Amino acid sequence: MTEKHCDILHNDKFGRYLVANKDLDAGELIFTNTPFVFGPKQDSPPLCLGCFCPVDNTMCSRCGWPICSEACEKAPQHKIECDVFSAVKVRFQPVDDWTVPSPQLDCITPLRMLIAKEQDPDRWQRELEVMETHTKERKNRPTWEAEQTNVVNFLLNHCKLGARFSSELVEKVCGILAVNAVEIPSRGGFSSHAVYPFLAITAHSCVSNIVHTILYDDYRVQVRAAVPIKAGDILYLSYTHALAPTITRREYLLESKFFNCECQRCADPTELGTHLSTLKCSKCDNGVIMSNNSLDNDAEWNCTDKKCGFKTSGAAMRKMLAVIQAEVDLLDSLEPGPQAIEQREAFINKYKSVFHPRHSVLLSVKYTLAELYGRVEGYTIDELPDLMLERKVEMCRLVLKTLDIILPGESRMRGMMLYELHAPLMYLARNEFSAGIIAQEQLKEKLQEPLQCLAEAARILQREDPQSPEGIIGNIAYQSMEQLKLSLDTL
Ligand SMILES: [Zn+2]
Ligand SMILES: [Zn+2]
Ligand SMILES: [Zn+2]
Ligand SMILES: [Zn+2]
Repeated sequence: MTEKHCDILHNDKFGRYLVANKDLDAGELIFTNTPFVFGPKQDSPPLCLGCFCPVDNTMCSRCGWPICSEACEKAPQHKIECDVFSAVKVRFQPVDDWTVPSPQLDCITPLRMLIAKEQDPDRWQRELEVMETHTKERKNRPTWEAEQTNVVNFLLNHCKLGARFSSELVEKVCGILAVNAVEIPSRGGFSSHAVYPFLAITAHSCVSNIVHTILYDDYRVQVRAAVPIKAGDILYLSYTHALAPTITRREYLLESKFFNCECQRCADPTELGTHLSTLKCSKCDNGVIMSNNSLDNDAEWNCTDKKCGFKTSGAAMRKMLAVIQAEVDLLDSLEPGPQAIEQREAFINKYKSVFHPRHSVLLSVKYTLAELYGRVEGYTIDELPDLMLERKVEMCRLVLKTLDIILPGESRMRGMMLYELHAPLMYLARNEFSAGIIAQEQLKEKLQEPLQCLAEAARILQREDPQSPEGIIGNIAYQSMEQLKLSLDTL
């Protein structure tokens, strides 16, 4: 597709931004964009410079930098740094632990971008030259010095590129990457990033109306409408994690994107009624604790019950969230197994008197639990008792209800939750039927909802790359839907 269903406009609030130039249906493709550059992120552990998989002491025979195979040695994306490094005989310095972040790869993506600029000066001039870099703010960051050493000095002096590129240009390239790069999927779990100049124009909102999919073969991005969009509507992409609470989203956006988000969701202490940031009051039974002014991270938090009067500082709230997030990170490092379910249930039990049941911390743990029930040893779907099937249903519905508000429409998360929801619904209906509680006609009726779940999950997830985890589920959802249709016909 070369036609784009959107136009670029300009104002003081967003700078450049995109608006739809026709009415769009949910799921409709708006534009695709090829990356100007892609490569490892800063502070990445050593990884193959061809396919970004983890490597262990295997090097390119030509340049001596990490590469997993002969095929990757010849990959066009590696040729750029391969030529530069082999010409000046600068080799990768072996490391003790190949799973620990190493600053050595920090220079790779900036170098690829510098060479891409030489190879396509027109595209650079048209699309990259105008991009935001926030160099002034970045100079005050602790990362600035490391970047001077590991990227600017390394490339210009160590790799003898000083006559080809200026230090200002290397700083500009680093700024474009820091402000605009988007994470891309990679084999083996190490994340890499890419710059999509057109995608980068979209305005941010913590309630987005578009979704993006990155394809695995050439890292092209496809951007679609998540909900019906009218001609003239602004396109909004969310640059943060949808389920994160306001404090965390706003800190991330300020830290990495250099702006204070003042979207509708951030401005509302209840987060549009989802209560993703709300705590329970420990001093009374009537109130909940919310920020006085959610657009100020230092504002006081108060109990909503005027008689109670409990209050705490924004700083205390941030500190508590950080401590508990570390616990969630630990849970996320568990191997999928019975422990992964039991420890998460224990976590929810421990914090259920602290957080609102829909608070971000509890909701994201419930999201993972919804995926784990029915899938791990000791908890496979056909051995789950009705009570646990119902628990899985309850968690899926809770997440879906929240997504309807903060990530409305056809998103990957919605597709995944719908897929998770279909199985317990199906098993519960069949169990009721075999226990003689419902008749065949009622069974048929009850199987309509799981059928709808599968149809919608398949429609959403089959837009993802077929090799991606979501794309694989999309195809399974489609097959399960066909099977369920067949069995309904024979009932
Ligand atoms: Zn490779
Ligand atoms: Zn090489
Ligand atoms: Zn916001
Ligand atoms: Zn209270």
